[in-house]
Amino acid sequence: MKRKSAHTVFLGVCPVCRKKLRDEGLAIIDKNDAYALCCVTCVSCLSSLMFTVSSLEGGMVTTVGVLTDIQEKDLEMVKRKAALTHDDVLDIHAFLENK
Ligand SMILES: [Zn+2]
Repeated sequence: MKRKSAHTVFLGVCPVCRKKLRDEGLAIIDKNDAYALCCVTCVSCLSSLMFTVSSLEGGMVTTVGVLTDIQEKDLEMVKRKAALTHDDVLDIHAFLENK
């Protein structure tokens, strides 16, 4: 029997197009001993999914994911954890008021 690579990960299917998510679209944004924040982009429809993987006592692993519009070019900004400023909030308010 052929052994699987230690780097093989199961990412499930894309919630939009239902195609299998592949690890070449995977990026780890942040991680420590207890959790990893990851982003995977579907190579079929280019939807992005952010998810956390958390290790719990007893070796259990949980994941929580959310569909997002973050693209690969945005990952550096997310990694820097740039905080919103008051001006950002006012800009969004002005933008929405004009809609
Ligand atoms: Zn997809």
